[in-house]
Amino acid sequence: MEGFSTIAAIATPPGKGGVAVIRISGAEAFRVADRIFSPKNQKPLSEQAARTQVYGDILLEGDPIDDGLATRFPAPHSYTGEDTVEISCHGGFLITKMVLSAALAAGASIAAPGEFTRRAFMNGKLSLTDAEAIGNLLEASSAAAVKLASAKSRDRLSAAMEEIQKDAVALMGSLFARIDYPDEDLGDFSDAESISLLRSLLSRLDALIATYRTGRAVNEGIATVICGKPNAGKSTLYNLLVGEDAAIVTEIEGTTRDVLERTVPLGQVLLRLSDTAGIRETSDVVERIGVEKTHRCMEEAELILAVFDTSRPLTEEDEALLRELETLSGTTVAILNKSDLPAVFDPEVIQSRVTHSLTLSAKQSDATPLCALIEQLFTDGRLTVGEDAIVSSARQHAGLLKAKEHFSLALEAYLAGLPTDAAASDIERAIGALGELCGRSVSEAIVSDIFSRFCVGK
Ligand code: GDP
Repeated sequence: MEGFSTIAAIATPPGKGGVAVIRISGAEAFRVADRIFSPKNQKPLSEQAARTQVYGDILLEGDPIDDGLATRFPAPHSYTGEDTVEISCHGGFLITKMVLSAALAAGASIAAPGEFTRRAFMNGKLSLTDAEAIGNLLEASSAAAVKLASAKSRDRLSAAMEEIQKDAVALMGSLFARIDYPDEDLGDFSDAESISLLRSLLSRLDALIATYRTGRAVNEGIATVICGKPNAGKSTLYNLLVGEDAAIVTEIEGTTRDVLERTVPLGQVLLRLSDTAGIRETSDVVERIGVEKTHRCMEEAELILAVFDTSRPLTEEDEALLRELETLSGTTVAILNKSDLPAVFDPEVIQSRVTHSLTLSAKQSDATPLCALIEQLFTDGRLTVGEDAIVSSARQHAGLLKAKEHFSLALEAYLAGLPTDAAASDIERAIGALGELCGRSVSEAIVSDIFSRFCVGK
């Protein structure tokens, strides 16, 4: 691309491996590569067939330092959309660095983190949503997160957003025609049709916005708190979910004093799991700090697993917990624990006061039923990760909310019988918000924020 220097970086992770790849991209890429790569067939790399691997020597200041393969990708058919060369050398730590220094000595400059992907975006090879998904793919810590970042999943989301934008553009066109030529009958949509289209746009936006709960649960994890009186079985439940003895399980009350956090994949979602001190009035200072933390965590949590021991009579502490659960904004699940022992009270006493409950034995059951319930609560029970359009970034979510706000204002303007231009300018703003989502009119600050998440060489 005009004005961009030719950049080079190691595209593979540091360390020892079978091969490492050095990527060079920019207008000078072929000239740089000709200086450092000498094909065995005697023809300069710049004259070799495009997208075909060639075997040869890799040179540093004219001397061979390794042998390997090189491929040239003439613009625009490369990852960045620029002339690009990829050189594969042996994957040693030092040799890889030497090949990179050869490229730098031959005229390339070192790439900044994410610069290859950034150029791909600038050259129209990727939308901002695609670039974000690639960032998520590199960060993915579960199979579901990989699926969510897949091209298929991205295409579904882009298609859903484009469909909304296309209808909004058609509506706006019709409104502007009416404003500019009030005496002609140029409007495609009657007022009633415009109102019904706006309602349909709003409900489609709402449906997409709602998927963010799933996207976040898969990518970032659900902030989860386990709470309950001492000895209810919190640590045992924690260990069941974590799958190992991470918290100390003991018969002595009040041992779990502080908040531990672990990220645990559970089916399609991730739990960001805190194991907290038991909730109870205490005079022990250290323990009291832990208890206060627990209450704060409960207020901020998206998922609260409240553990009750059904093998012992309910106490005032259980009662206080039930009252507190009613005040929380997160999703609460009452765990009726110790089902392997005879129950001493009717579970209905708890079930009638919570939205979700599950009877289990943290000591003897496996986590499958709890996993199924949480997955259902956080993926809506309907969405299939990797198949459905799912919003997965805070930026997309904020953009959709902004578009929704402007469409709502446009609808209000219509319903209030205001002149057409009031609705038209709101719809225009909504379209602007949707356009920003694809990244074509997005500000430099947002672009930089996204690309700063990439590593060097990507
Ligand atoms: P916490 O204080 O709430 O963290 O409770 P713990 O997880 O430390 O459990 C207290 C005691 O109850 C321990 O002896 C556990 O082995 C026992 N316990 C926990 N869950 C169960 C269960 O499902 N069945 C039975 N029988 N005992 C359990």
